[in-house]
Amino acid sequence: MKTVTVTPHLTQLTRMRFVNAYLVREDDGFTLVDTTTGGAADALLAAAERAGAPIRRIALTHGHGDHAGSLDALKERLGGVEVLIPELDARILAGEHVVDGKLPGGWPKALRTAPDVRLAAGDRVGSLEVIAAPGHTPGHVAFRDTRDGTLIAGDAFTTYGGVAVTSHFFLRFPLAAMATWDRERTVATAETLRALDPAVLVVGHGPAVRAPAAGMDRAIARAIAKR
Ligand SMILES: [Zn+2]
Repeated sequence: MKTVTVTPHLTQLTRMRFVNAYLVREDDGFTLVDTTTGGAADALLAAAERAGAPIRRIALTHGHGDHAGSLDALKERLGGVEVLIPELDARILAGEHVVDGKLPGGWPKALRTAPDVRLAAGDRVGSLEVIAAPGHTPGHVAFRDTRDGTLIAGDAFTTYGGVAVTSHFFLRFPLAAMATWDRERTVATAETLRALDPAVLVVGHGPAVRAPAAGMDRAIARAIAKR
């Protein structure tokens, strides 16, 4: 697992060169945001150990399998770890039918871990503020680090070869757009996240982008032009 220190509070963990999770440093240890694909628990735990603190809680941006994939294994290994999943995606993972029509993307079929907390907009997870960011999935959230303005945007954007909104196919990384549930809502979310004026943008797929405002503006303009 590749490890990149993005800010003093944030370490990016990358598996198989295309899927990210994040260690967010708090006074009591780490919040792990997303868990990548299945089979990554050992590597994620080793990364936290190398970074020098235990994982205290696991928060998901959304329920897709490349973000929730190692949740069960981590929960098994970490016992009392607190698990936080966005409300609507938690209900989808529990087998509830929450939206009309088919949900695209890979959803884990038999996730055993029920969240301790179903996240809503405005909740706090340590230093992170929960931002509603629906579109890629119905319940998708972003996390804004209130200490330094870093934004963990999950799959609302990708950043391979530049920032892109996941509402439409852009050739660098079409997979996230293929898994997107609602294009219009994804574009509206992109605008909401841009308005937060993040200092650093980090995402589920792609490298960290510092001072991302111009890139986000271009990405939103391209997404709107493709509508
Ligand atoms: Zn996704």
